[in-house]
Amino acid sequence: MTTIVVFVEHSKGQARRASLEALGAAKAAGARVVAAVEGSDAQAVASTLGRFGAERVAVFAGDGRVSADRSARDLAALVREEGATACFAAATSSGKSLMPRIAATLDSTLHSDCTGLDLTGGAPKVVRPWLAGKLIATLESSAPVLCATLRPNTFAVQEGSGSAEIVAKPSSSDLKALLVSIEAKTGGKLDVKEAPIVVSGGRGMKAPEHFALIEELAAAFGNAAVGASRAVVDAGWRPHAEQVGQTGKTVSPQLYIAVGISGAIQHLAGMRTAKTIVAINKDADAPIFKVADYGLVGDAFEIVPALTAAVKAIRAQR
Ligand SMILES: Cc1cc2nc3c(=O)[nH]c(=O)nc-3n(C[C@H](O)[C@H](O)[C@H](O)COP(=O)(O)OP(=O)(O)OC[C@H]3O[C@@H](n4cnc5c(N)ncnc54)[C@H](O)[C@@H]3O)c2cc1C
Repeated sequence: MTTIVVFVEHSKGQARRASLEALGAAKAAGARVVAAVEGSDAQAVASTLGRFGAERVAVFAGDGRVSADRSARDLAALVREEGATACFAAATSSGKSLMPRIAATLDSTLHSDCTGLDLTGGAPKVVRPWLAGKLIATLESSAPVLCATLRPNTFAVQEGSGSAEIVAKPSSSDLKALLVSIEAKTGGKLDVKEAPIVVSGGRGMKAPEHFALIEELAAAFGNAAVGASRAVVDAGWRPHAEQVGQTGKTVSPQLYIAVGISGAIQHLAGMRTAKTIVAINKDADAPIFKVADYGLVGDAFEIVPALTAAVKAIRAQR
């Protein structure tokens, strides 16, 4: 049986959903799954990971200092020690920072932002969007260790009743760069990359104060994040953390609602892998309708409040 090492991120004592999805992808591949968790809360998080497919959890409690170089060295050492043939992380900011370093340390290659995996025998294959999502490439790896970041909201979490062996690991002390602080710009709100529903607004909203309509629709769902096109981010209407697209974030939610967004290729690059796309636009010829599963042609200022009321009514009945 092959072994896969999965880097698990956590926040406030809980593993991030995108990391649980990476564990699920490794489990679904039929591998023995070894999770790696770092930091002061690592022990508490480690005890939960058996339920999500990990058979063994390596805990790097560290000394309170955070360094991607050190993390990469620790994880590469773990991969070697476990004889793993693959190493996964979620394609989040941390995963994207860490995994290239691990691949370099292991003299392997990196497959980033993967949306599919085939580890069922023979050379492992990964699927990933290319050229801003215009092409979907299947790549075969001949590297001894397959290093990949996995797109959030793409792979299923596999929750069961298992338990994992937990082992404490020492962290290396050689730090080249140290993370000093992180300031959350989303103010504790759901991140567009991880939310199951994203409601995005574009220039068709006309003014920043009208984003209250987008926020109300997102709030009505209860588990939705607000996204934005670059046009409104550049105009200073919305923070960059909400930007979806080629120069923003790539999202793959269950439901993506684009309101007053034309559907420029650079925007589509960030959302076309959403499972269901709903577009609201007063221009029936807007390119967004070419990728939409459901299109509503009309004025966002009439449609969005009606949709919000309908979502609230449906949720109230449950
Ligand atoms: C290198 C590069 C990188 C880029 N990266 C990104 C990126 O990451 N993300 C991104 O989004 N863009 C990106 N862009 C910009 C992109 O090309 C578009 O300019 C941008 O996406 C347009 O934003 P928009 O759809 O909000 O605005 P517009 O193109 O102006 O579209 C507004 C839409 O609103 C509709 N509308 C107007 N009024 C209403 C109404 N009352 N009700 C309903 N609909 C209405 C209009 O019909 C129109 O379709 C990038 C561009 C470049 C060159």
